[in-house]
Amino acid sequence: MGVTKNISFSYLEFENADELPASDRELISTALNAAGLAYAPYSKFRVGAAVRLESGRMVHGSNVENAAFPSGTCAERTALAAAVSNFPDDSPVAIAITAITENGDIAESVSPCGNCRQVIAEEETRRGKQIRIILCMKKKIRVIESISLLLPLQFNMNSLRQDPPSQ
Ligand SMILES: [Zn+2]
Repeated sequence: MGVTKNISFSYLEFENADELPASDRELISTALNAAGLAYAPYSKFRVGAAVRLESGRMVHGSNVENAAFPSGTCAERTALAAAVSNFPDDSPVAIAITAITENGDIAESVSPCGNCRQVIAEEETRRGKQIRIILCMKKKIRVIESISLLLPLQFNMNSLRQDPPSQ
């Protein structure tokens, strides 16, 4: 008989951005602008992400789709790859994510896909600094203090560093 283990987590939810600090509002605004720049002719779901680096610098990205579907890239990974490759010594501390639907509204629901959670987690783990996730939706904003909360029991570099089992 197994033992039941529970995982739960808390996050903050806001009805509008006015309740957030100015730096978060600025990050959301940058993500929203990035969504407007997305190349999403297939899904028509334009996603924007903006990464805040420790220095305060912001780097944005949007989804870039492709006729060969798996070749497309999510906004979160576009933004994070741009941040990491251009500013390798500046740690990501937050990422705001939002999306615009086909009719021009902000999406009712936004959440990073599994691939993006894994990629954000790599940055958090290797730098040992939490990355806040700010999800900006039409009627609410969710703030999650660490990607590890969205990716529990994650596989990461520590998983590779386990001591070999004793014989
Ligand atoms: Zn993704």
